[in-house]
Amino acid sequence: MLDGEPRGVPVTSPSPPRPPWQDPPPRNGIQEKQEHMRVIHEAPLAPMTTLGIGGPAAALIELHDPADFPEFVALADTFPGEPVCLGEGSNVLVSDAGCAGAVLRMSTKGVRMAGNTADGRVLVEVQAGHLLADLVATTIAEGLTGMEMLVGIPGTTGATPVQNVGAYGQETADTLVQVTAWDRKLRRMVTMDAAECGLGHRTSVFKRSRRWTLLTLVFALRRSELSAPVTYRTVAAALDVPVGSRVPLDEVAQAVLTVRRSKGMVLGCSGSDDRSVGSVFLSPEISPAQAEGLRARHAPVNRFPDGSTRVSASWLIRQAGFELRRPVVPGVRISSLHYTLVAEEGATAAGFRQAVDMVFQEVLRRTGVRLTSEIDFL
Ligand SMILES: Cc1cc2nc3c(=O)[nH]c(=O)nc-3n(C[C@H](O)[C@H](O)[C@H](O)COP(=O)(O)OP(=O)(O)OC[C@H]3O[C@@H](n4cnc5c(N)ncnc54)[C@H](O)[C@@H]3O)c2cc1C
Repeated sequence: MLDGEPRGVPVTSPSPPRPPWQDPPPRNGIQEKQEHMRVIHEAPLAPMTTLGIGGPAAALIELHDPADFPEFVALADTFPGEPVCLGEGSNVLVSDAGCAGAVLRMSTKGVRMAGNTADGRVLVEVQAGHLLADLVATTIAEGLTGMEMLVGIPGTTGATPVQNVGAYGQETADTLVQVTAWDRKLRRMVTMDAAECGLGHRTSVFKRSRRWTLLTLVFALRRSELSAPVTYRTVAAALDVPVGSRVPLDEVAQAVLTVRRSKGMVLGCSGSDDRSVGSVFLSPEISPAQAEGLRARHAPVNRFPDGSTRVSASWLIRQAGFELRRPVVPGVRISSLHYTLVAEEGATAAGFRQAVDMVFQEVLRRTGVRLTSEIDFL
C-alpha cells in the first residue's frame, strides 16, 4: 500500500512521441480552448475510436491536467444525461446517433515511482490517460516485471481495470494495487484498493457502469531483468524456449509482439484489418461437461487465473462456419488473420451490432456455447 504522498522522481511525463498510427485524429468540431481542458461541441467520435464508427458527442471534454478535475466534473454536469468516459476508443462501439451527453476524454499523462511495498515491490503511479503501450515500455526499460506480456495492447492505462485487461498469462489484477476515481454516486473522490475493483475475467465493477471516472492507478511490480514464466506455447515457440522459461523482458515483449502481429492484434500492423476492437467476444466460460466434449473436438480449452475453464471464442467462430475475410453484413467482415469482426468502408454501429448478434446466434446454434461481447456500447 502507499504510505501517504507518492515519493520519487517522475519517470516519464509526458509520454514519449506517439507512433504515427496513434496520432490524435483531426478535430472538426467547434473548440473552446481552456488552459488545460478542451471542450469540443458536436465532436465527431468516430475518429477517436479504432473502429472508426459512430456519431458525434454533444460535448467532448478533454482533461490534460489532473488539477483541473473539479472544473472538469462541474462542466460535465452542465450537460444532460450521464457523462461517459473515453480513452483511446479501442474497446467501444459508439452508436450511429452519437452521445447526447458529455464524453470525458482522459488525456492526463505521467508515470512516477511511488515507493516500495513491504515485500520489496516497486509502486508505480500512473495517470489515467497515459498509454498502456508507453507504460509497458517504461516498465521494461526500468527492469520491472509484471506487465511485459501486455505489450501491443492499445488503449489508456485508466481503462485497464475496466475489463481487467490481460494477455498471454498476465492481467491487470496481477499488479494493480489501488485506484483513485471520481465517484458520481457519492459525488467525491474515492480511493479503491484492488479488491474493491472486483477484477474478474475481462470484467470489474467498472465494466458497463458510468459511476466512476478513474484518475490515477498504482501498480506493484517486481525488479527483475527476467520476465514472468512464459506460459503460452505460441510465445515459447517464438522464443524457441520451453514453456515455463523466464527470458529477458525485452525479448519476451518482442516475442509477444510477433505472435500478436500474426493475428492482426497490433494496431498499425494489420493493414485492412486495422479497424478493430481486438477480440469482440470473450472466451466463454464452459461447464466441465462442455469442456470434455470440446476437448474431444480438439478445441483450445484453458483454465484461467479466476479458476474458470474457457474455450477460445475464435475457435468457436470458426466452427460456426465463419471464414476469414468473409463479409458478415455490409461494412463488417471477419478479419483476414483472426476469427474476429473488423469494420471496413460503409460500416455503421447498427451493422456492427447486427454482425455481433449474427455471430452469437450462429455459434450458439452450431456449438451450444453462448458468446459474450467484450465491447462497451456507448
Ligand atoms: C488490436 C486490439 C487488440 C486488443 N488486445 C487486447 C488484449 O490482448 N487484451 C485485452 O484485455 N484487451 C485488448 N483490446 C481491447 C482494448 O485495447 C482494451 O480494452 C483497452 O483497455 C481499452 O482502452 P481504451 O483507452 O481504448 O478504452 P476505451 O475503448 O476508450 O474505453 C473502454 C471502456 O473503458 C471506459 N473507460 C475508459 N477510460 C476510463 C476511465 N479513465 N475511467 C473510467 N472508465 C473508463 C470507457 O467508458 C469504456 O466503457 C484490444 C483492442 C484492439 C483494438
